[in-house]
Amino acid sequence: MSTLRFKSIEEANSHKPVKVEMPADRPEKYYGEMVFDRRKMFEYLPGEVFNTLIEAIDNKRPISRQTADAVAEGMKRWAIENGARHYTHWFHPLTGGTAEKHDAFIEHDGKGGVVERFSGKVLVQQEPDASSFPNGGIRNTFEARGYSAWDISSPAFILDGTLCIPTVFISYTGESLDYKTPLLRALNSVDRAGTRVAHLFDPEVKHVISYLGWEQEYFLVDEALYMARPDLMLTGRTLMGHESAKNQQLEDHYFGAIPGRVEAFMLDLELECHRLGIPAKTRHNEVAPNQFELAPVFEETNFANDHNLLLMSLMDKVARRHNFRVLLHEKPFNGINGSGKHNNWSLGTDTGTMLFSPAKTAEGNLRFLTFTVAVMSAVHRHNALVKASIASATNAHRLGANEAPPAIVSMFLGRELSKILDDIEKGNTEVLATMAGKQKVNLDVAQIPQLSLDNTDRNRTSPFAFTGNRFEFRAVGSSANSAAAMIVINSAVAEALDELADAVEKRMEEGATRDDAIMSELRRLIAQCRDIHFDGNGYSDEWKEEAARRGLDTEASVPLMYDAYLAPRSQEMFTREGVLSPTELLARNEVKWEMYTKKVQIESRVLGDLAVNHILPVAIRYQNMLLDNVQKINGLFDSDKAAVIAYQDLNSIEELSDHVAAIKSGVERMTAARKVANRIGEQRGKAIAYHDTVVPEMEEIRYHIDKLELMVDNEMWPLPKYREMLFIR
Ligand code: ADP
Ligand code: MG
Repeated sequence: MSTLRFKSIEEANSHKPVKVEMPADRPEKYYGEMVFDRRKMFEYLPGEVFNTLIEAIDNKRPISRQTADAVAEGMKRWAIENGARHYTHWFHPLTGGTAEKHDAFIEHDGKGGVVERFSGKVLVQQEPDASSFPNGGIRNTFEARGYSAWDISSPAFILDGTLCIPTVFISYTGESLDYKTPLLRALNSVDRAGTRVAHLFDPEVKHVISYLGWEQEYFLVDEALYMARPDLMLTGRTLMGHESAKNQQLEDHYFGAIPGRVEAFMLDLELECHRLGIPAKTRHNEVAPNQFELAPVFEETNFANDHNLLLMSLMDKVARRHNFRVLLHEKPFNGINGSGKHNNWSLGTDTGTMLFSPAKTAEGNLRFLTFTVAVMSAVHRHNALVKASIASATNAHRLGANEAPPAIVSMFLGRELSKILDDIEKGNTEVLATMAGKQKVNLDVAQIPQLSLDNTDRNRTSPFAFTGNRFEFRAVGSSANSAAAMIVINSAVAEALDELADAVEKRMEEGATRDDAIMSELRRLIAQCRDIHFDGNGYSDEWKEEAARRGLDTEASVPLMYDAYLAPRSQEMFTREGVLSPTELLARNEVKWEMYTKKVQIESRVLGDLAVNHILPVAIRYQNMLLDNVQKINGLFDSDKAAVIAYQDLNSIEELSDHVAAIKSGVERMTAARKVANRIGEQRGKAIAYHDTVVPEMEEIRYHIDKLELMVDNEMWPLPKYREMLFIR
């Protein structure tokens, strides 16, 4: 093992960058070439079919079987011309990631040969034999399968010779078994409610669109070193490993020069992204060694999320070509920054107004404040739910650590916006007078500060920050499907917008002017939700106490965080907005608890095996070496002298045996705790037991293993160490 380890490290450090063939063309030539986008639809579909399809996409309407057949024919022709032999319905199961089952286009031609066919029926609907995907009990596997149905608003694409058709995955009784279905429903509800509020300002608005720009953080590790770490291979993170003497203290990695090997990987990845229509734009080193980030230009939330999921599988594939493994886990290394996926989120109208951008007119600013206060109100009321939307067994290691958002949801607004909201709440300022009274008057800069300046005084400790023209939700985990967060945020904001519209319309019916109606509602909301606003240091202990005093959710146990989905106010909100029914919420929570248990269970087993089979034998061997040494010393010197000489060894032997004993008893207790937990029938109770009784034992075992790593002869240590894995040259 140790020889393999050292050979690998030399190899790892001597890898030359893999040469990436760059196309001769500029990106605009090959951008989206693997996507059946509107340009290709126009080219490959008969005129009236194209018009019908576009009309259906734009107005969110279903298409007829005839249209589907014609679309399927054109899509197949395009796919085959581009080398595809298979097709698949591509969906987003509750396990996370993406799922696909490939079928070849071929069918019998009736003459003993085959012909390549693809019908509208197959395009529009499939019954994948996906009965083993978790469904929280909704879909009894004996009765009915779920089916997948084409989401016509997401374009199909070709990946590795397979035509991928983005689909929703639902049960026969109509319940969602995936992330895409409720995401589309949430986007519809924020569109509808947002349009209602936008109409207070502009009757021309037909749609409000939700935008998402994610920033994906990740680690790269050399493949050979990854292979030598069973914990990384099986759980995505190191379950043991002492911090390296140098890690990120100097912050010299952040925005530093990108190593050649990594740069080649990034180039290759960007190329694949651009061919698939993912607008990858920004790449840089992150704070931790070997940590990097990729960010695209933001897009409509549904596409952006498809693209993020696609990106995660591309990363995995491309990394292998470069002898890397990509780690998307939220906390692959202890003591080193974890990875998140910041979700930059905003709303805009189909008429081109960005609703969280401060404007130059009073009218525009009133609109900006109306939408912004609605978001505050939503995040305030549903702060526990917003947190639950990003809670997972893996993200739990990152949240609340001293480099990631705390496990409390609050909002950062910045100095200028805070002041304006304070002024409005007090009801006695120039801002208010000008805005409420003389609607058409242009405000001068002194009255409405340039909020875009806020970009500079960013508070990295805030989980939900206003950043000038959007909100940045930073608590999302790097491996997560962002849809979970986007479902909650868009539906909660839809609810707040609906309520705001109700209140304003009512006041106007009672005779108030529009401005007075809006201003008094804003004043009421600001006073009501001011507790969500926190611009201070989210890492501090005082904040935890203060947040609890304010009544914000401070729950730290992931299985208990999930309860927020079932709270009456959440169920009401999801029902009112038509996003998730109480049945769906319950079923999805069952899946969440089950996933939590499974993740911890696997980690706990892997840790137990590694401790017993890898670490303890080595520690005992090393201990024997020291014992041999002491005996030899005793043989050579008289007893007084020998005692002095062997003093250090004896100390080490004692310390080693303490750690060995602690690991042994820890593994025994952990196994016993698992057995007890496994006997619990219901998922919530089981997950709680895993959290409360198994996780603490794992931490204890790890502590002792990490101590041993510092004591045992380096030559003997069976796993690559942090310093060996974390510094790609
Ligand atoms: P930073 O690291 O400073 O937060 P980045 O440039 O890495 O900024 O990422 C910002 C992300 O936010 C990008 O994906 C960008 O497209 C996205 N973004 C910018 N404006 C908006 C907006 N109005 N709505 C949604 N996303 C946006
Ligand atoms: Mg950011």
